Formats: sequence, structure tokens, C-alpha cells
Amino acid sequence: MTTYKLLLLPGDGIGPETMGEVKKVLGWFNARGTASFETEEDLVGGCAYDAHGKAISDEAMDRAMASDAVLFGAVGGPKWDGVPYDVRPEAGLLRLRKDMELFANLRPAICYPALADASSLKRDVIEGLDILILRELTGGVYFGEPKEITELGNGQKRAVDTQVYETYEIDRIARAAFELARTRRGKVTSMEKRNVMKSGVLWNEVVSQAHADGYQDVELEHMLADAGGMQLVRWPKQFDVIVTDNLFGDMLSDVAAMLTGSLGMLPSASLGAPDPETGKRKALYEPVHGSAPDIAGKGAANPIAMIASFAMCLRYSFGLVEEADLLEKAISSTLDKGLRTSDIAGKGESAIGTSAMGDAIVAEL
Ligand code: ATP
Ligand code: MG
Repeated sequence: MTTYKLLLLPGDGIGPETMGEVKKVLGWFNARGTASFETEEDLVGGCAYDAHGKAISDEAMDRAMASDAVLFGAVGGPKWDGVPYDVRPEAGLLRLRKDMELFANLRPAICYPALADASSLKRDVIEGLDILILRELTGGVYFGEPKEITELGNGQKRAVDTQVYETYEIDRIARAAFELARTRRGKVTSMEKRNVMKSGVLWNEVVSQAHADGYQDVELEHMLADAGGMQLVRWPKQFDVIVTDNLFGDMLSDVAAMLTGSLGMLPSASLGAPDPETGKRKALYEPVHGSAPDIAGKGAANPIAMIASFAMCLRYSFGLVEEADLLEKAISSTLDKGLRTSDIAGKGESAIGTSAMGDAIVAEL
């Protein structure tokens, strides 16, 4: 039996509370005995700054690099508002992303049947939705040069942003998309604007080339990003994996996330390149939400985003599809029973706490 090495970085605020519920889930899987998980734990964010004046220590970074996957809680809070910029809590996450070269950001949009009526869309549009947006995270207009505002001298200014993509950057995200689609429903939709952008022309070309190079078992479709945004809201169930650049991905993943729900429900993952020898990718899994200082320490946080992030880890880092399905089903049936933390409780519904929600999910497992 394979043993998977996980580094847990609970961080600040509600991070340790929600990570505590993942530990219960890990305990259940270890007892089940179909896969074995070995965990280490370290500090990141404000708590790391308090302990050794850095948002993440070099030792914690080494442990992250040596792990099969990192589970990350949340960082920051008002306590650290005044700390120097380069050691602020968020610098810990940025260093992890940079040193692990996490270029692929995965954001699923999943609709749990029990919460379908909470969406602003009609039930038939949203019920059963399970799509994945794959956003390129380290290139494009966020980093392209020149990037500047210049004075033109006549009271006018000029602002310039530059979208740059090279073949290798598009190729590696395209391959990640095809591999993810293979573990799902086998369809990739690539979105760009080749009608107005040269980077869109190259994007389209390189994605098609990667597809022809060994992923023909996956269905590939190309869509202009504006039409894609429209289709995402009109009939999102037509998609499986959507792959797109940094800027379009930023917008489309927020739209997709809000199709279905509350911040306390949304998991995410960031992946690096496969190791040339082992084929394994560096990976970090984290909830979309932050440290929620307003509810930290009250035992009220919804642990589902954190637990669902671990389900993504089972599926995408370890290929433990059965285990991932089991965990996602346990979350879904816990919701079916009407159990709610306060962020997802409707009017008149009573709410349970973080620990009770974690216990209920483990009981459902
Ligand atoms: P960041 O800058 O780290 O993204 P933020 O302040 O923008 O942090 P969050 O920390 O995610 O955002 O909190 C936004 C709001 O959502 C808060 O009112 C918080 O209480 C609520 N919230 C976030 N996560 C959860 C959760 N897991 N359970 C319940 N409520 C949550
Ligand atoms: Mg925020």
C-alpha cells in the first residue's frame, strides 16, 4: 500500500479550526486502510511570523518541497496589520506558490443538491453541476512587460499592460487540463480571444498541438472567452474542464464559483509541473476563503471548503478517485440531512458548529 506524505499548514484565524476537521477525515481514511497518509505540520502566516519573524521558515519550505501535497488553511488577520511588507502573513503563501512553481490553479464549481435553491439560477440549470476551471497562474497580462503609466505632457497619460505567453507556458497548462479531464468526464473547453489577440491565436494553436500529441482520447473544444462567459451562466453543465489564461481565468472562476454558493463551501488547488522522473506534480490545496477573523476561535466556521480541498487532493494528486468520490458523497449526504453551519443556514434553519459538521461528515463516511 502506498503511503502519501502530507504537509499540513493550518495557518491563522479559522485555518486551525477547519484543518482540525480534515485531521478527523484523515484518521478515518487511515483506519479504513485502503491508503495510508503520513502527516507533518508546520507554521505559516502570522503564527510563523510570531514564532520566527518570517511568514514561512526555510525548514517549512523544505518540508513542503519534500511532501506529496500541501494542505493549506488560511493566513492573516488584524493582529499582523502592521508587520513589514515582505514578512506579512500572505508572503508565506506567495513563497509557496513561487518556489513550488504552481502555475495551474483549479477551481471547481460543484452544486450540492441540498443547496441548489440557494443559487440565483434556476434549479434545473444548476442541479448536479460539477465543472472545473483551470486558470493559468504565473503568466499573461499580470506579469508581461512593459507595464506602465506614462505622462504624455498634454495632461494626458497612457497606460500599458502587456499580455505575453510563450509556447511552453500554454503547452504545460493544456497538458494539465487534458490529464485532469481524463480523471473526470473527458472533455476540455479552451477559452481565449483569438479574434482580437495574438496571444489568443498562439493559445489556440498550442492547445490543439498538445491535444494531437497524445490526448486524442479527450474531447477538445475551442470557444471565444466572451461567448464562454455567456455559456457558463446560460447552461454551465455543457462543460467539464475549462482551460484559460490568467486574466480570463480570474474572471471566469469567480463567476463559476458564485453559480453555486457560499465562500465556506469552495475548495481550490494549485499544481506545478510533473517531475521528469516520477511524473508527480507539486501541489497545494486550500479553501478559497480567507482566515475570517470575525468568526475565528468561535467554533462556527464551515469546514467543508477545507475538507473538499482534501477531496481534490485525493483525486488530483493521488489518483484515489474512489476515496475522493466517497468523501464528496459524504459531504453531500450530510447536507441532504439538513445539517448546516451558520454561513449556509437559511432563514429559520438552525446551525451547528465546525466540529459537529466535521463529525457528521466522518459519521457519513
Ligand atoms: P482574504 O483577504 O484572506 O481573502 P477576506 O477577509 O477577504 O480574507 P474571508 O476571510 O474569506 O475573506 O471572509 C469573508 C467573510 O466570509 C467573513 O465574514 C467570514 O466570516 C466569512 N467566511 C469565510 N470563510 C468562512 C467559513 N469557512 N465559514 C463561515 N464563514 C466564512
Ligand atoms: Mg479576500
